[in-house]
Amino acid sequence: MKYLRFLDKNNNIKHGIIDKKTVREITGDIFGHHSDSETTYNLDEIKILPPCEPTKIVAIGLNYSDHAQEMGSELPEEPRMFLKPHTAVIADGGKVKYPDHMSQRVDFEGELGVVIGKKASHVSKEDALSHVFGYTCMNDVTARDLQKKDIQFTRAKGFDTFAPVGPVIETELEPGNLEIKTFLNGELKQHSNTSHLIFSVPHLVSFVSQVMTLLPGDIISTGTPEGVAPMKKGDKVEVTVEGIGTLTNYIE
Ligand code: MG
Repeated sequence: MKYLRFLDKNNNIKHGIIDKKTVREITGDIFGHHSDSETTYNLDEIKILPPCEPTKIVAIGLNYSDHAQEMGSELPEEPRMFLKPHTAVIADGGKVKYPDHMSQRVDFEGELGVVIGKKASHVSKEDALSHVFGYTCMNDVTARDLQKKDIQFTRAKGFDTFAPVGPVIETELEPGNLEIKTFLNGELKQHSNTSHLIFSVPHLVSFVSQVMTLLPGDIISTGTPEGVAPMKKGDKVEVTVEGIGTLTNYIE
């Protein structure tokens, strides 16, 4: 099922399940007990919000071998993780603000996002997927020049609006074989499949949980395939993951 968070006409925050163009409101905790209501909305009468409110986004670097190659990096022996702050999150349709006071090169990175549903600490690979709520599309927006300049990734990955996520969380999906595409102004720039991930989703959830506790709503962004490229103001960027949908954002 496809879960989303949205604002109704009176600016109340709601959760719902989308079926084609109809959204059925749900009540309760989406990560715990919740139930369908009788209230429905058309997609054109709501405003889509980020589908969850992560306390942190754990992003994985160099998790597709073709991308490691284009960056001139060796294949990692274990997952390379960094954090993006939750203040960077924006929704489907939202605008990425170009930080031209500091950066002259801002790239898209289309990625599969894993949304945690159940607190995860020191979980095994075998048990990892039982802690996952579902999957979403992510754009790990990156100030490439600052990533090269700084030792840490914090600035390059952490600007406000640098974590577009959504539009929905799909809960009925096998993460190991999903086509992933990124389009810049309609032109296909990245095209791969999650079967090419160096470290699989169960591996990543288990690995991260050996370091820090993952909480419901937290996101693991699983890494980007080959084809990263810069964006400029006025551009439209779309990340499509098979079975989830398309995350569309604009650069301003
Ligand atoms: Mg990335």
